Amino acid sequence: MATALDRVTEEYGTYAPKGSTCLVCKQEIKRSERVRRGYLRPEGEGSNDMTAVYHHSPKCPA
Ligand SMILES: [Zn+2]
Repeated sequence: MATALDRVTEEYGTYAPKGSTCLVCKQEIKRSERVRRGYLRPEGEGSNDMTAVYHHSPKCPA
């Protein structure tokens, strides 16, 4: 379970994979929308599996 947002790596002006959902507004991200990418790192258990998450950049379209 990924529970904490860990901004180890964050890229600006990238694009999210098809079907991705914005972490902030929960809307599906369109292919043409620019986003920032961050990573969720599971707490404890020594897992190194990082889950990429996306949110609109510079702000959500709503
Ligand atoms: Zn959004």
